Amino acid sequence: MSFDYDLFVIGGGSGGVRAARVAAGENGAKVALAEEDRYGGTCVIRGCVPKKLMVFASEFSGTMQDAQAYGWDVKPGGLDWNMFHDKLVAELDRLEGVYRNILKNNGVESFDQRAHVVDAHTVELADGTRKTAKHILIATGGRPVVPEFPGSDLAITSNEIFHLEKLPQSILIVGGGYIASEFAGIMNGMGVKTTQFYRGAQILRGFDEEARGLICEEMRQNGIDVRLGTNVLEMTKEGDQIRVKATDGTEDQFDVVMYATGRAPNADNLGLEAVGVERGRKGEIVVDEYSQTGVPSIFAIGDVTDRVNLTPVAIREGMAFVETVFKGNPTPVDHELIPTAIFTQPEFGTVGLSEEDAAAQEPVEVYTTSFKPMQKAFAGGTQRVLMKLIVSQATRKVLGCHIVAPGAGEMIQLAGIAVKMGATKEDFDRTVAVHPVMAEELVTMRQPVRTA
Ligand code: NDP
Repeated sequence: MSFDYDLFVIGGGSGGVRAARVAAGENGAKVALAEEDRYGGTCVIRGCVPKKLMVFASEFSGTMQDAQAYGWDVKPGGLDWNMFHDKLVAELDRLEGVYRNILKNNGVESFDQRAHVVDAHTVELADGTRKTAKHILIATGGRPVVPEFPGSDLAITSNEIFHLEKLPQSILIVGGGYIASEFAGIMNGMGVKTTQFYRGAQILRGFDEEARGLICEEMRQNGIDVRLGTNVLEMTKEGDQIRVKATDGTEDQFDVVMYATGRAPNADNLGLEAVGVERGRKGEIVVDEYSQTGVPSIFAIGDVTDRVNLTPVAIREGMAFVETVFKGNPTPVDHELIPTAIFTQPEFGTVGLSEEDAAAQEPVEVYTTSFKPMQKAFAGGTQRVLMKLIVSQATRKVLGCHIVAPGAGEMIQLAGIAVKMGATKEDFDRTVAVHPVMAEELVTMRQPVRTA
């Protein structure tokens, strides 16, 4: 049977574009891709990239204070949001163009339309055109979800935060995950009076407790009103503001309320039920280790499969899919020991197990040090950083590495290589310190602070 294409990709985000480009460009496959929104997907258009640029913008307030403390004659003014936003929009436009060109230059035919699956080898575009393909790859990503409660429609999400008309004077951010905690730091740094509600006992659930504790403490030191054990009961419009009634009995008014309470896979109305593709409890597409659904010609990668919802993981899944399907080399996706960074202020880099998870698994030694970094201490800052290693007593392998410090994302990328290679504590010890940097503490911690 002949098909229009070897591969039809639905979704032009990080995962879909990578799979399409490698299948076409490196493997000579005939590939098409449909995208209903902007090319680049969540990461490029409304996620990692604009977020990081906003982190950079927000960090200058602290940098300027430090500069003054170092003797510089600088006077911090406010952030010109409009100027920053215009540049942000231009940069996103540029990057979208880059993504479109990647597809074009690799011979991928793209359709700026929504597509859904009709049968195991057919997709239908929004204009009714049908295309057949030997393989269909679904890479439609995810979207933020806001729980339903009185006034929930007044909340914005991370989709809108990048394009505020003006910088608000006050913001409430609800949630304690990556997105909420990152934006609390961003808004605070930009000079917005920032409150964060988290319903649980400590933000960043699932990560190392000591690291979470320090991050929360430092966020509070930076001026963020982090209210733990607190949730929204109802919201009402009051003039230009939003009045928020909270579970702790308080009532406050905010210019903007942003919900970052999790994301849902974009797997609705894709025709999946009709062809028998299974979906999980959160609505995600169920796939095996090769990203294959129960329908052999249909695969899915990235956030729509709700495995590990990170851009580099979606890219890996896309590459492994191409390796498996177009190179005849079945390649399972390796989801073990993924280093990651959370751009809170202070930044958090982490790989492997938290102390709590490691101790539940086997006897461990815990090496940890917390200190005032030289650069900040000189400027009179009280900020502390944390370097922490969790070591298996049996194998001596480093099971987890957690860094809370400026630049922790850069550090954990490198520490991640050692941990992924199975480095032992003694391997870390054998490595000569780089001096004077914060990360040298990773190779100079001699005695465990505790066993667990
Ligand atoms: P998360 O799932 O990480 O966090 C959701 C937060 O909202 C949790 O604190 C959760 O609380 C809370 N929550 C959930 N439901 C409710 C509710 N009904 N009312 C109040 N609070 C609620 O989601 P995010 O949206 O922050 O991030 C989504 C994913 O995006 C992440 O898991 C990550 O994979 C990815 N991401 C990665 C980044 C990076 O690498 N730096 C940056 C941003 C996102 P509880 O803990 O109690 O469940």
